[in-house]
Amino acid sequence: MPICFITYGCKVNQAEAQKWELKLRSYGYEITDKMENADIWIINTCAVTHKAENQSRKIINKAKEFGVKAIITGCYVTLKNLKTKEEKLIFLNNYEKDKVIDEFKPLFKSYKLNLSRQRAIVKIQDGCDHFCSYCIVPYLRGRPKSIPKEQIIKEIENYYQIGIKEVILSGINLGTYGKDCEELNFKVLLKEILKNTHIPKIRLSSLEINHIDDEFLEILSDSRICKHLHIPLQHGSNRILKLMNRKYNIKIFEEKIKKIVKLYPKISIGTDIIVGFPSETNEDFQEMINVIKELNFSYLHVFPYSNRPHTEASSIKEKVSEDIKKYRMDILIQIGKNLKEKYMKQFIGHKLQVIIESKKLGFYTGTSDNYIKCIIEENNLEAKDLIEIKVIKIRDHLAYGKVLKN
Ligand code: SF4
Repeated sequence: MPICFITYGCKVNQAEAQKWELKLRSYGYEITDKMENADIWIINTCAVTHKAENQSRKIINKAKEFGVKAIITGCYVTLKNLKTKEEKLIFLNNYEKDKVIDEFKPLFKSYKLNLSRQRAIVKIQDGCDHFCSYCIVPYLRGRPKSIPKEQIIKEIENYYQIGIKEVILSGINLGTYGKDCEELNFKVLLKEILKNTHIPKIRLSSLEINHIDDEFLEILSDSRICKHLHIPLQHGSNRILKLMNRKYNIKIFEEKIKKIVKLYPKISIGTDIIVGFPSETNEDFQEMINVIKELNFSYLHVFPYSNRPHTEASSIKEKVSEDIKKYRMDILIQIGKNLKEKYMKQFIGHKLQVIIESKKLGFYTGTSDNYIKCIIEENNLEAKDLIEIKVIKIRDHLAYGKVLKN
C-alpha cells in the first residue's frame, strides 16, 4: 500500500508532511515520491496565492480522476470549508490537522525511524496575528500557537539519532514563538535547543525584522546556527509598507540589516518581495529597487501580488495590471540573479561547510551553512555527511568545490 505525500506551500506544510512521513515509515508503510505508484495520496494544500489555490484544486480533482484514495488537509480545504461537502478524509487546519494519519495503524512491531530528506524541517509554531493587509494566513491558521519546547528538543534529538545533521526551524511567524506561553520566547527556545541537543546545524526558515535584536544577534554567533537569515522585506516604499500593515519602515529595516552584516560580513541574507501591490507606482517600484541594491541581499524571492479573500488589501481599488506586474517581476528576478551571483563569487577560494544531500551523475550535491547549493566531486561521501569544501568555481548559481575534511 504505497503512500505518496503531495505538499504545496510553505515550510510549515513541508514540516508537517515530513513528520507524518517519518511516523508512517516507522509503522512499516512504503512511501513513494511517484504519484502513479501510490495507492494513497496525502495532500497538504495551500491558499497563500491564487496560483497555489489552483494547484491545490487541480490535484484534488486529479485524485478523483485517478480513483485513488486521497487524504486532504491544509489551507485550501480550510478556506473553501470543503469538510462540510465531503466530510470523510478531509481535515481542516487547527485542531484537526494532526489527525491526518490517525487511521494508519502500525504494520510492524519494531520501530525504525527513517527519512527521505537529509536536512529535517521542524515545526516550532503555527499561526500569526500580524494581519499584514495582503495575507490570508492568519484567517486560515489562526493566532500563534507554540509547540512545547520539550517536544521540539525531543524531535531534534530523534533526527540527530538517525544521522540528520541539520534541522530547519520553521513556523508561520517564527519570532512569535512563546507568545502563548509564560516565560518563553524564540530566543529562550534557541538557547535551550543549543544546550539540550547535539544537532550540528540549526537553520532558521524565516524571521521578521522586528524579532531581530541584540540578544538574538549574540545567539547567532554560535557556530551551530547557520549563517543564513531569510528576512522578508516585502516592499521598498514606506507608503506601500504602511498599506501592507508591516511593522517597520525602511530606515529600521536598513539599520538592522547593516548591523547584522557588520557583525557577520559573510552571512547570507535573503528576502521576499511582493510586486504589484495595489496602487504601486513607478516611483514606489524604483524605491524598491534602490533599497534592494543598497542592502545587497544574497538572493530574492519575488512574488506577484495576489488578491486574497478576507484581506484588507483586496478592497483597495487601484489594482496594478498583470502586464505591469510581469514587467516589474522580470526586472526584479534579474536583479535577484545578479545579487546571488555576486554573493556567491566572494567564496571562490574559501571554505564552506556543506551537508551532502544526494548523488547525481557522479557528483555529490549539498547545501552549505550559508545556503549555497554545492557540487562536489569525490568518491567516499555519504548522504547526510557534514564536510568542509574549498570552492573552486561558481557556475549557474552552483558552487563547485573540493573536500577539505569530513
Ligand atoms: S507576518 Fe504577515 S505575511 Fe507573515 S504570515 Fe503573518 S500576516 Fe502573513
